[in-house]
Amino acid sequence: MSNVSTRDHSDLPASGRAPGPAVPLALAPIRSVADWRDAILAKLVYALGRDQRTASDRDWFEALALALRDRVVAHALDSDDLTRVAGHKRVYYLSLEFLVGRLLVDTLTNLDMTGLTRAALGELGADFERVRAAEPDAALGNGGLGRLAACFMESAASLAIPTCGYGIRYENGLFRQEIRNGVQVELPEDWLAAGNPWEIRRPERDCDIGFGGHVEQVGDDDGATRCVWHPAELVRAVAHDTPVIGWRARHANRLRLWSARAVAPLRLDAFNAGDYLGAVADDVRARSVSRVLYPSDTTPAGQELRLRQEYFFSAASLHDILRRHLAEGYDLSRLPDMAAIQLNDTHPAIAIAEMMRLLVDRHGTAWNEAWRITCGCFSYTNHTLLPEALETWPVALMERLLPRHMQIIYRLNADHLEAARAKGAASDSLQASLSMIDETQGRRVRMGTLAFVGSHRVNGVSALHTGLMRETVFHDLHVLHPDRITNVTNGITFRRWLFEANPRLTGLLVDVLGDAVLDDPSVLAGLRGLAGDPGLRARLIACRRANKVALSNLVGEQLGIGLDPDALFDVHVKRLHEYKRQLLNILEAVSLWQAIRARPAAGWVPRVKIFAGKAAASYAQARLIIRLINDVASVINNDPVTSDLLKVVFLPNFNVSLAEIIIPAADLSEQISTAGMEASGTGNMKFALNGALTIGTLDGANIEIRDHVGADNIFIFGLTAAEVAVRRLDGWHPECSIVASPALAGAIEAIGRGTFSPGEDTRFAPIVDELRRTDRFLVTADFDSYAEAQRRVAALWRDRDAWWRAAVLNTAGMGPFSSDRAIGEYAEKIWHVTGLER
Ligand SMILES: *Cc1c(COP(=O)(O)O)cnc(C)c1O
Repeated sequence: MSNVSTRDHSDLPASGRAPGPAVPLALAPIRSVADWRDAILAKLVYALGRDQRTASDRDWFEALALALRDRVVAHALDSDDLTRVAGHKRVYYLSLEFLVGRLLVDTLTNLDMTGLTRAALGELGADFERVRAAEPDAALGNGGLGRLAACFMESAASLAIPTCGYGIRYENGLFRQEIRNGVQVELPEDWLAAGNPWEIRRPERDCDIGFGGHVEQVGDDDGATRCVWHPAELVRAVAHDTPVIGWRARHANRLRLWSARAVAPLRLDAFNAGDYLGAVADDVRARSVSRVLYPSDTTPAGQELRLRQEYFFSAASLHDILRRHLAEGYDLSRLPDMAAIQLNDTHPAIAIAEMMRLLVDRHGTAWNEAWRITCGCFSYTNHTLLPEALETWPVALMERLLPRHMQIIYRLNADHLEAARAKGAASDSLQASLSMIDETQGRRVRMGTLAFVGSHRVNGVSALHTGLMRETVFHDLHVLHPDRITNVTNGITFRRWLFEANPRLTGLLVDVLGDAVLDDPSVLAGLRGLAGDPGLRARLIACRRANKVALSNLVGEQLGIGLDPDALFDVHVKRLHEYKRQLLNILEAVSLWQAIRARPAAGWVPRVKIFAGKAAASYAQARLIIRLINDVASVINNDPVTSDLLKVVFLPNFNVSLAEIIIPAADLSEQISTAGMEASGTGNMKFALNGALTIGTLDGANIEIRDHVGADNIFIFGLTAAEVAVRRLDGWHPECSIVASPALAGAIEAIGRGTFSPGEDTRFAPIVDELRRTDRFLVTADFDSYAEAQRRVAALWRDRDAWWRAAVLNTAGMGPFSSDRAIGEYAEKIWHVTGLER
């Protein structure tokens, strides 16, 4: 089904603008609160059929979103039209995850309509804050990788870079987490249950994606042979667009998400014969492809459904990209001039083989020319060096599910190994290491190698990570292609993570630095000269305190724990993973608690340890760490001796919206991964931008944050990546560290003895055993150094002037971590594209 509709003006030939304005039904500008109130009310009544007097918060949210969507869609159509007329190159961002969160305030901010909307809703008798909270989070991602994709979409729109994001419209995104008796319980998150007012169904963009079957060789008229894939099964990819508006409404892009269904959803004969289940069985099977988000971002899938998801969305997206290119009247040879396709991790790497298939089999392009086009279009971002997270697929599965792609991969691999041999990489061991096929654990396709070889640029996401890519996993490929690997350090969008999450601080920054700070992150550096200014400090303290009161209220409502907003808020929120070392933090909390109990009057800094994060459902050790944190919390929080000095809080269901509340209330940001394991981190950037000080290892982007905020304004501790590598090579004996550290030994002993699991002293045995025997994440090795860094934190906290000076210098130094900077680098170094001029 590749029906090319002439009604859609993005398919008009590139020869010129269509007659008349780009948006024929240009919306009347909103000039007053009354105009906007009436537009919202019209949606409530005419689009939703609801009565103003009985409308719920959800109804108002939907009416408002629909009214806003009209505005955004108008921008998106216009941006698309301009792109086409200008013959401007487009960027396609392929990602299996987009962790978007809510869109309402983001849209209002970028359209500059927040004030107007508050007033209009007020006149309608609705409450802005409650309406805002009625929007469910779009949680189509696990963590950092998916959130990066969402920040990048917003920045690309803000920089007017014509971009389309492609992904899967999961019916159930990331699970909702509840904590019952300390244990994580996963519940499906039904974010689409009440409909999604932002999205627009695009039936004319649907296409059918094949799986399985066989490959036939057919002879051409000129004697050559051609391969034709006859899939055994087709799944329909159904297109849904969400418009993405950029800052100050300069430009709008779209996020196109595919959902799956059967080509023939109902077998009427079976239904009429009374076989109601059999009648829809094909549809149920097809729909499973877009049913759930794969639960982990760091373990190999091993499941056919995951490979189906990857191919499904990659193939639908490529189909769409080629369709647009041809419909605009270009030759396929020009594809690299018109389309930059970014692979966010290896999940869409099969797109490289699919592009070759489309060009060679479908369009008759010669193999070498097809390869030139493919490499010219694709580039790949690597997100992890953890060996267990480098994606590979069994050859047998690939042959069964994607037989033609497996043939193509074999041929690409032969070409690639031949070229390597010609460059001197001829030894068996080098050839084995360079091969797209891993022969060491059964035969498996290495998706990272396929992505590397098929891309003109491969990037890491922080300076450290990119260096390690060159030295470790991609070493041999790097020697072969020394110019291919490049670094683009991650970034975050300041619109969401500063302007929207922390309006108090934003107001203060505008007062002090002027409006320019809203458009140019480098203006933040102007704060450096004011770091010692007592007036600024007083206002910053007031603003942080208000944010902490808001978070304390939430904690009180959700958990019934009373927090002192004047205590140091020490925050560790992110996915639960052993390498992120929440365990190190909670061990230190236990040891601190023991120390306070021993000497309650020793002048301790009151502290609140705040945790949040989800563990993959199948990741037993991470789930157990969640239980430990919760069990430790219930003992410590009920200890009258320490109750004014130490609290431990685990907030359930960490997501983007919760992060937006927690981060502006943080004094201390925990970024304590085992060095060499966190590729970049973006949570670290959100905190530092909002003025929290970081306690962290020399890992990922922490290193660059240190360079920009100044080594005196960050608490660095622990082994370096190089030292970690040595420890791991030499074999590591945690007993020595435990024996050498009475504080650590005491904490482990308390956990092992059942202090936090009364009546069940073996509950945490897997954690205690791991620490005592293998300690793969070097928790015990870094414990003393971490505890010492925490004492430096407490000392600085007592010196109020010094603390707030450092806080100002953190915000001041974070300009370079805007995702606008990151997208600017991708555009220049990788995509070779500029912003669209108006
Ligand atoms: C930013 C963010 C992350 C990534 O955090 P890291 O600390 O970089 O791992 C994960 N989840 C959510 C909801 C986020 O907003």
